[in-house]
Amino acid sequence: MSIRINDEKCVGCGLCIEACPGNLIKKNEKGKAFIKHERDCWGCTSCIKECKINAIDFFLGADVGGAGSVLSVSSKGDINTWMITKADGSVEEIVINKKDANKY
Ligand code: SF4
Ligand code: SF4
Repeated sequence: MSIRINDEKCVGCGLCIEACPGNLIKKNEKGKAFIKHERDCWGCTSCIKECKINAIDFFLGADVGGAGSVLSVSSKGDINTWMITKADGSVEEIVINKKDANKY
C-alpha cells in the first residue's frame, strides 16, 4: 500500500509528517510533503485523515476491492468527505459528521 502526495495542492502544513507513525513523510526543498519510503507504508491512513485539503491520495489495493481506485479526504469543521475515485474516473463520496462518531 502506499500514498501519493499532490505537490500542487500541498501547503506544507506538516500535519501528515507528524501523523505518520513510521516517519515516512518528509518535506522537499519547496517545503512540500513527499513520501520518502513508499515501500514501508503499511496503509494506516493516519496521514490522509490529517490532510484537510485533499492533497493525499491513498491507493486501495486489490485485497480490499480497490482495483485501481484511490481514496482521499477533505475536512471542513466536523464534516469529513471521503472520496473514492475509481479506475473508470467515477467518484463515490462518503460524508461523515465527526460529531456522530460515537453514536453507534
Ligand atoms: S497534511 Fe496535506 S497539506 Fe499538510 S503537508 Fe501533508 S500533504 Fe501537505
Ligand atoms: S498511510 Fe500511514 S504509514 Fe503510510 S505514509 Fe500515511 S501515515 Fe505513514
